[in-house]
Amino acid sequence: MNAGQTVLVVDDEKQNRSLLAELLNNDCRVILAKSGTQALERAREQRPDLILLDVLMPDMSGYQVIQALKGDDATRQIPVIFISALDSPADEERGLDLDAVDYITKPFHPSIVRKRVRNHLQSIHQRHLLENLAMIDSLTEIANRRRYDEALENEWRRCARSGSPLSLAIIDVDHFKAYNDHLGHAEGDRTLHRIAQTLRGHVNRPGDLVARYGGEEFVLLLPNTDAQAAAHVGNDVRAGIEALQLPHPTSPVSRHVTISLGGMTLTPNGGQVDPKFFQEADAALYAAKAEGRNRAFWRYAAS
Ligand code: GH3
Ligand code: MG
Ligand code: MG
Repeated sequence: MNAGQTVLVVDDEKQNRSLLAELLNNDCRVILAKSGTQALERAREQRPDLILLDVLMPDMSGYQVIQALKGDDATRQIPVIFISALDSPADEERGLDLDAVDYITKPFHPSIVRKRVRNHLQSIHQRHLLENLAMIDSLTEIANRRRYDEALENEWRRCARSGSPLSLAIIDVDHFKAYNDHLGHAEGDRTLHRIAQTLRGHVNRPGDLVARYGGEEFVLLLPNTDAQAAAHVGNDVRAGIEALQLPHPTSPVSRHVTISLGGMTLTPNGGQVDPKFFQEADAALYAAKAEGRNRAFWRYAAS
């Protein structure tokens, strides 16, 4: 558990909302909703860590609310605990069948609710820590390939829905084999870390992702970014690495470590990532290499 966690309490009765808020206020931030519709709105906007959900409510039942939550990418992962006056085993079973993590019957014992919520928040916190760790590349301390794959699928779908452009850059360090051969693998590792952190420093709009794709290759994923803006980022990033002035004694291209970058912009269509997206960015990278390295080339799909 940690104080930065948020719990959404959903109950149509003001007295219950106040009671639960008071009970949990010391352990987490509490936000309230008095109807199913309001609950769905708050859940989508604020992404709480946990939802306490009443079953019997006039506009939408808790059962309908949980189904809507589980059917939406934005809220599917949020654990739900039912707090309900329906106390038969069949009611409880129905709640758990709908993927609730727990079922508490009313009238509830305040200290027991508090302890159960604490336990859930604790394990949610630990799960988030582990999930985050599993998404970080240990050498460079930026996002790893798994995180990129996941982000690409999500951003593809999100941009397809909103009709927004999505941009992808593939970055490859120039003549890095020679760098390693000359300066040693440990120095190579330190340089990859430095490059990764510099890339991250250049890409900072919400939703942007910098990840290590593998070896000495990195990717930038830029949602809601058109080709012109993305090409600008690409040039900035290339110049930013050159400006580090990390000596590369054996590079035929420059006295310093440089990168080549290939980028692609399109407006996604359909739910599945089109492999051409990556292939086009890769082809642009190949062209940047072929034309002398230390350059950024961008392509975009005509719409
Ligand atoms: P190019 O300009 O065509 O990209 O030449 P290059 O030498 O960078 O290309 P190549 O793909 O032949 O070599 C990539 C090198 O990157 C091979 C390997 O020595 C180095 N490399 C890959 N992963 C790591 C790593 O984790 N640590 C270190 N130190 N080096 C790595
Ligand atoms: Mg390579
Ligand atoms: Mg390389």
